[in-house]
Amino acid sequence: MTAIALIVGHNARAQGAVRATDGRTEYDWCGDLAAAIKAHGPGMYAVIRRQSHPSGYASEIRNAYVTADAMGVSATVELHFNGGPATATGTETLTSGTKGSLRLARLIQPAMVGALGLRDRGLLTRGRNDRGGESLWAGRAPAVLLEPYFGSREADCQAADRHYAALAAAIHRACVAFINGA
Ligand SMILES: [Zn+2]
Repeated sequence: MTAIALIVGHNARAQGAVRATDGRTEYDWCGDLAAAIKAHGPGMYAVIRRQSHPSGYASEIRNAYVTADAMGVSATVELHFNGGPATATGTETLTSGTKGSLRLARLIQPAMVGALGLRDRGLLTRGRNDRGGESLWAGRAPAVLLEPYFGSREADCQAADRHYAALAAAIHRACVAFINGA
């Protein structure tokens, strides 16, 4: 059974932030990261891409998470990278603050920090109506949203490229630990 849904941030029409080094978008880059994570345990993951929806953003998010819940997943992991001023740096994980979401976030955040070696910005708890909150609250399964680095900063992009395989492996190991009850 599919244990974890990897949800690619943004959609084909509105692809999110772009990387300072090569102009790749979140939708593009995170789709590759999802595939790299899934390669560690093909039967364990489903990759879900959000589809832009005529009724708007809330429907786009809801549809992705309804799909994940229909698979009976134990958790969802939405993949992004951060944007901001060119000086902003580091790794953060968004959590709803529910017990399951926090347990997963506390496994994934240090795993990502260990892989990339960037500043540990910690966990950010988001309510349903906060920015990024809809993704954390739309589904039944515990949800986290990952921001491993700032695409707006060249050195962060370079760290993500240099440690790309380690990042995918670290997220996978954290997901396995979550499934095993760590
Ligand atoms: Zn994003």
